Amino acid sequence: MTSRPLGTKDLLRPLQFVAGIGPDRADLLAKLQLRNVADVLFYFPRTYEDLTTTVKIADLVPGTEATIVGIVHSIERQVTRAGKVIVGILIEQDGELMRALWFNPTFGIRDLQKGTWVAVRGTPKRKTMRWEMVHPKVLRLDLPTAPPIETLGQHRGPGADVAAASSRGDENQNNDSIWLGTYRPVYGLTEGLNQREMRKIATNVVRRFADLLEEALTPDLIERHGLCGITQAVRGIHCPQQASDVTVAQARLVYQELFALQLGLAMRRYRMTAQAQAPVLIDSEKIRGRILRLFPFELTMDQLQAIDQVALDMGRNVPMNRMLQGDVGSGKTVVAVYSMLLCVAHGYQAALMAPTEILARQHFQTLRRQLKSSRVRMALLTGSTPAAERLKIEQDLASGNLDIVIGTQTLVRGQIPWQKLGLVIIDEGHKFGVKQRAQLKQGGCDPHYLVMTATPIPRSAAMTLFGDLDLSVIRQTPPGRQPVKSYLVEVEKRDSWWQFLRQQAASGRQAFIVVPRIEAQSDDEQTATATGVFAELTAGVLQGLRVELLHGQMSSADKQRIMTSFQRGLTQVLISTTVIEVGIDVPNANCLAICSPQRLGLSQLHQLRGRVGRGQHAGYVGLVLDEDCPQETRQRLQRFCQTTDGFELAELDLQLRGPGDLFGTRQHGLPPLLIADLTRDYDWLIKARSDAQSLVQIDPELADPQRKRLRQLVLAKYGRMLELGDVG
Ligand code: ADP
Ligand code: MG
Repeated sequence: MTSRPLGTKDLLRPLQFVAGIGPDRADLLAKLQLRNVADVLFYFPRTYEDLTTTVKIADLVPGTEATIVGIVHSIERQVTRAGKVIVGILIEQDGELMRALWFNPTFGIRDLQKGTWVAVRGTPKRKTMRWEMVHPKVLRLDLPTAPPIETLGQHRGPGADVAAASSRGDENQNNDSIWLGTYRPVYGLTEGLNQREMRKIATNVVRRFADLLEEALTPDLIERHGLCGITQAVRGIHCPQQASDVTVAQARLVYQELFALQLGLAMRRYRMTAQAQAPVLIDSEKIRGRILRLFPFELTMDQLQAIDQVALDMGRNVPMNRMLQGDVGSGKTVVAVYSMLLCVAHGYQAALMAPTEILARQHFQTLRRQLKSSRVRMALLTGSTPAAERLKIEQDLASGNLDIVIGTQTLVRGQIPWQKLGLVIIDEGHKFGVKQRAQLKQGGCDPHYLVMTATPIPRSAAMTLFGDLDLSVIRQTPPGRQPVKSYLVEVEKRDSWWQFLRQQAASGRQAFIVVPRIEAQSDDEQTATATGVFAELTAGVLQGLRVELLHGQMSSADKQRIMTSFQRGLTQVLISTTVIEVGIDVPNANCLAICSPQRLGLSQLHQLRGRVGRGQHAGYVGLVLDEDCPQETRQRLQRFCQTTDGFELAELDLQLRGPGDLFGTRQHGLPPLLIADLTRDYDWLIKARSDAQSLVQIDPELADPQRKRLRQLVLAKYGRMLELGDVG
């Protein structure tokens, strides 16, 4: 290579021009979205292979956790009568054998073969014949040569030949024991690229280029949190000598990632509030008394508290940016109605947006009922509103002849000529991105925003995904809610479950049956489909009942007709896709069956569960399992049946599926977190958030020259999404 000194520009050098990579490997790396040097530096290992403290089988101590490195000598599989799979593996090391046992093992374990090198970590027990570990962690080692343990001796067992045969190693030809004591990264790979090659590429790139990285964190932050510098962090994460190197590196990188995101959010919030003017809509005793009289019940403490928070925000000349979170049925609508009426009381207009037409219509009807005796003028505007009617509504909005408009996303499309828009409420806010929220901005004066969501969002995720919003939470449910029991319905119990549902419907109750899929896809015929379930049940156990099918591909007139018929109690059983997910209120419905429940997240299931138990009847939810439902899925769904706490389920979802799955990152548009884990790194999140907020107070545009690199970092990653502008 040239002897030209390297500069920061080299961080952007395409990988094909990096010595030791070349065009072929660069093509492979591109499949992992790795295109230049910096991409590789920030391609963090999935996990680590810890061989620093391996122990010989002969030295095991009962009850003391230990790591054993050896070769898979033989594999036994058993299926118990209850259908559980037991896998036992004999691991050979130094002529000694140890047994590792797993019940219903995960995929990685089922994958092991005779002759594979493994590191197994667990707590050993001494059995009469040999040592045993139950459910140890197992790591498949990518060892190309003879056993790493020098004392292995002559006895290698049948598997050793297999491993030895594939020996083409270049890193460790001269010393078999080189792996002992190492702590090595394990990367995500792509077809054609093995772990050894990937490690070599990363190590090489880190050695040559990590020094070029510029520090983005100012010295005060580094010192306050005892962080290491960026170069040390990148080195430590890719080429650690020991576990503690990774811990140190990770802390730094996690903090940086969360800090950059929180800065983006704080900057956005600053721009939305500091530079915006909103109408001052002050609450008063008189207004409150007049509005509260409209509700046929006493408000709960949580509702009153949320109303206080909202009213305080609306009384200021900066726009409210608040999220109202409350489990299904917690009574969020009351807060929405209150704030709209507060707005109207001051002569301003209010808009309420719902994610579906069905919900918009339901809100409209509820509101019309509640406001029967008032002079508030309101209209419903959705995608299916006829053009002429839409025009009339727009005219009335422009002239101030309408106070409240309820609608779907159509409200943000096109330009609605509001006369005095004071408040925008977005129901089920997670369906709307930051972007759509911004579209309702208008001219010089900004409306107040209230975003409502029934998906309980763990605090950590709320602060990240909606970090630019204040949070109000309704935890208490209104009095009189009925208990809801949830069950797993195994294949052999299906008949009796459908019979139960039939009896309930026949005795005057109503039932929902949710089937996530409309039509079968060729790839999985196992999965139930809405049309299939409809055909099967109407010809079978539900014969003679009034059953209807509802799905997203129907015309909105059909959907409307079917929903109305269900709401009026004319339809006894409604089979639908997840379009009924949010908000539908039919108090007489007490049974809910969910087919192929594994397709949905726990939070989503919980949302659906909120459809029953709304009236005076206890609710029943059956998760109708597909055939061959894997044990892990069953356990996850079992957790759902055991708790009715939406926040707990959301937290579980976050752990099991990550935040992307929870809210659909694509809809939301924020890039995924690469290294931070919202559950594990909650403490860092709090620190990063507080640091970001303080910094934006003193330097809202990160204009200080010593923050140049930080500014670039934030804008490059979040600038476009959060509409902060791009870096040039
Ligand atoms: P969600 O938070 O899911 O939107 P809703 O606002 O639809 O909940 O309220 C659920 C049900 O509870 C509605 O039928 C509503 O009329 C009723 N409700 C709301 N607040 C109270 C209350 N304080 N006391 C009794 N019932 C209430
Ligand atoms: Mg609602």
